[in-house]
Amino acid sequence: MAAADVGDDVFGDDPTVLDLESHTAELLGKEAAVFVSSGTQSNLCALLAHCQRGDEYLVGDRAHTYMFEGGGAAVLGSIQPQTVPMLSSGMLDLDIAKLAIKPDDTHFARTRLLCLENTTDGRVIGLEDLCAGRELADQHGLGYHLDGARLWNASIALGVAPIDIAAPFDTVSVCLSKGLGAPVGSVLVGSAPLITEARKWRKMLGGAMRQVGIIAAAGRHAIDNHIERLADDHRNAQLLAEGFNAIDGIELESQNTNMVFVRTTTDASGLEQGLLRRGVQTRWLGKQSRMVLHLDVDEGEIETVLTAIRSELNG
Ligand SMILES: *Cc1c(COP(=O)(O)O)cnc(C)c1O
Repeated sequence: MAAADVGDDVFGDDPTVLDLESHTAELLGKEAAVFVSSGTQSNLCALLAHCQRGDEYLVGDRAHTYMFEGGGAAVLGSIQPQTVPMLSSGMLDLDIAKLAIKPDDTHFARTRLLCLENTTDGRVIGLEDLCAGRELADQHGLGYHLDGARLWNASIALGVAPIDIAAPFDTVSVCLSKGLGAPVGSVLVGSAPLITEARKWRKMLGGAMRQVGIIAAAGRHAIDNHIERLADDHRNAQLLAEGFNAIDGIELESQNTNMVFVRTTTDASGLEQGLLRRGVQTRWLGKQSRMVLHLDVDEGEIETVLTAIRSELNG
């Protein structure tokens, strides 16, 4: 990062950003890319690029874009979300999505975009389902966006290249921090016209930054070095899940890719503080916790966590 060549990315002449953008576009098989500060900004720029004021997008009822991004599309784009139930894989129920597409009539918002998320809560949507979404989008003239913050995990879990997951979509957002471990940043990829539009929105949102090659360099490093190793995170998540299965007072809800969902069978108040005193920082919502594996947690630390929880729950 200290050695990165920088320019002024507001003028589009930061060589390290340009390198990251063209490399990510190529990796995901798209024409163009724009480097953004966060996944939230990336999804918002995509929605604003696809939809006009008064348009509507179809989105999963538990999707990050709908649930956890402050309603940005509605607030800043006057884009109405039409939620669709999600199946256990994280795929949208396409029969219901189809029924939710509005007729061309002045009574209705114009349905313009279908949004998927892969992975959701670590669950992977397979290529067939992704292609089925493309078919529906084509039948109704919709754009097709993927919130692929965790696309890299899906690619490792499915044993396919990232480009195969991105292929059916017009735009794809990927995260460089989280599992990949870069300090900051996401990238939105898509066709040149859509990315030009997204770049305008990024500017309007205050997301164009000057000598930002410093952080783009870390993003490139993450892409080059930290994708294959996500398999270690998936393995560690499995070890953690197996460990939880053997602890009285803990119920394993699910483990998919790098995520483990657990709940305590007894009162969990005090658990967070107790674990912290043992050097393990966790968060619990009531009796539930979601634990996410990443490159800063190794196999040895899995045992540390399990030992701390075992001691805390069973003395
Ligand atoms: C984290 C995440 C986002 C948002 O990314 P931020 O960088 O936190 O804004 C969007 N979608 C999914 C699926 C995510 O996991």
